[in-house]
Amino acid sequence: MRNKEGFFLNHFFAVGLYDLRTSTVHHSQVSLFMAKYIFVTGGVTSSLGKGIIAASLAKLLQARGLRVTIQKFDPYINVDPGTLNPYEHGECYVTEDGAETDLDLGHYERFLNIHTSQANNVTTGRIYQTVINKERAGDFLGKTVQVVPHITDEIKRRMLQLGEGGQYDIVLTEIGGTVGDIESLPFIEAVRQLQWELPEEDVMVVHLTLIPYLKAAKELKTKPTQHSVKMLSETGVHPDIIVCRTEEPLNNDIKRKIALFCNVKQEAVIEAMDASTIYEVPLLMLREKLDVICLKKMNITGYDEPQLDKWKVFLDKLKYPRSKVTVGLIGKYIELQDAYKSILESFVHAGAINEVKVQVVNVHSEFITPENVTEKLEGFDGLLVAPGFGHRGIEGKITAVKYARENGLPFFGICLGMQMAVIEYGRNVLGLSEAHSTEMDNKTIHPVINMMEEQKKIKMMGGTMRLGAYPCNIENGSLAYRIYGETNITERHRHRYEFNNDYLDQYQSAGMIASGRNPETGLVEIMELPDHPFFIGVQYHPELKSTVERPAPLFVHFIAAAKKANEEKSMQKRSLVSQ
Ligand code: GLN
Repeated sequence: MRNKEGFFLNHFFAVGLYDLRTSTVHHSQVSLFMAKYIFVTGGVTSSLGKGIIAASLAKLLQARGLRVTIQKFDPYINVDPGTLNPYEHGECYVTEDGAETDLDLGHYERFLNIHTSQANNVTTGRIYQTVINKERAGDFLGKTVQVVPHITDEIKRRMLQLGEGGQYDIVLTEIGGTVGDIESLPFIEAVRQLQWELPEEDVMVVHLTLIPYLKAAKELKTKPTQHSVKMLSETGVHPDIIVCRTEEPLNNDIKRKIALFCNVKQEAVIEAMDASTIYEVPLLMLREKLDVICLKKMNITGYDEPQLDKWKVFLDKLKYPRSKVTVGLIGKYIELQDAYKSILESFVHAGAINEVKVQVVNVHSEFITPENVTEKLEGFDGLLVAPGFGHRGIEGKITAVKYARENGLPFFGICLGMQMAVIEYGRNVLGLSEAHSTEMDNKTIHPVINMMEEQKKIKMMGGTMRLGAYPCNIENGSLAYRIYGETNITERHRHRYEFNNDYLDQYQSAGMIASGRNPETGLVEIMELPDHPFFIGVQYHPELKSTVERPAPLFVHFIAAAKKANEEKSMQKRSLVSQ
């Protein structure tokens, strides 16, 4: 924790910095400066889009020239979400440094075009693990270790950490869960302490709530919000801003009422109407002046209006596409949209750049058979075979790959999707009828996909896969090269199995080319079929690096190929009609 002098220093430099900011002094000259902290809490119900509101606010501040980062504190006891079932928790998002994190970090990266890291996602499990390790090391000798102060001190240390190196002006912290949950109490208590310990203008709390609309009464109801703010206040935390999710506009009377009951100024009651796309939310928040109110509270001056020109161009293309393509997403977690979050968002980015609407149709791989495959897949302009783990649904994936390969349908396989393409080619082109991955059949006589050597000795599950960014060298002249436009790339990973290089010569002589490999280990990162209109599988996860400003090249080119396939189909139909 910072002591009184620390606060004073911080305050002193902070004041100095704001004066300097109005002139042209570069930020790095004031590295002793410590960031200001915005906490985002949620009330009434989960799934109100706290992550999107936090990311939108961060975007507006960043677009004014402030250096911003976001972190998420999750109240569950898992050390990270890596071991959670996607059905339960949605996708596990992997950062450059190989942290397995909450999917909200994906939103932060997509909105802000920044990299996050292990430090940006902290769970109760991780906090306790640190405190218990310290206890075992004797750091608290003689003391009883308690939630307050030991757990809350560790929470505060981590909450402040990213803001201490002079790298950021503002650190936003999203607190997972809903106010009133037993497990989020220590986080809320830590926020309370910081509200009291830090200079008033260095910390603020934004509380997101729901204003339900009762159709029968034709009325918006403020009571749940009043209760949720009351509950927050009982823990000693006072929100500075109330953001209200609502289906209907909030009139002035409602805003006044909320302000009165919740102890905030009326201008600090923000309407957050349902939006047609999450990418519209920053502009809705701009209209509501959410950023202006934050800057005022934090006494930050000298920053221009947010520069959102590129964002608006993107949004325009997204909202007014010229045509449509339909892509089949072949996976097994299809009931839950969040399981493939980053893939779906990458399609949004790639669609906008291609000026097409990408309609993604989920197809459950478990129900694809050689008998029904044509009927199920013939309407698509492209197929994406999704990442995944375990045995269920893989034969359907292999059947789908075969259909795409034989019918010239654009194909894009990610991680397990690439591995399935390798198995399919092995079985149906190389004649290795028992080709398989040892993940599904560890006795196969043709283990074309095999467990990585370094994985064989690992017994623990959490955080032990090949994770995070690794380099890949791309073959000149390949499809991958045309897509990336360069030979040295890095992409993020999350896997235990790899292409078995004992089979590489056989595959390449038969026409499936390893066009991207790890420069140190030779691990195959990209497989492609040069004789197909568009057929590529990658061992890594390109969806994790797609942002609004930098859409992932593989998605952009896959959608371009789907668009071409769609146009060709329409032309064929037209010529049939005119015959
Ligand atoms: N189950 C496969 C592996 O571990 C693929 C993983 C994935 O698709 N992320 O290699």
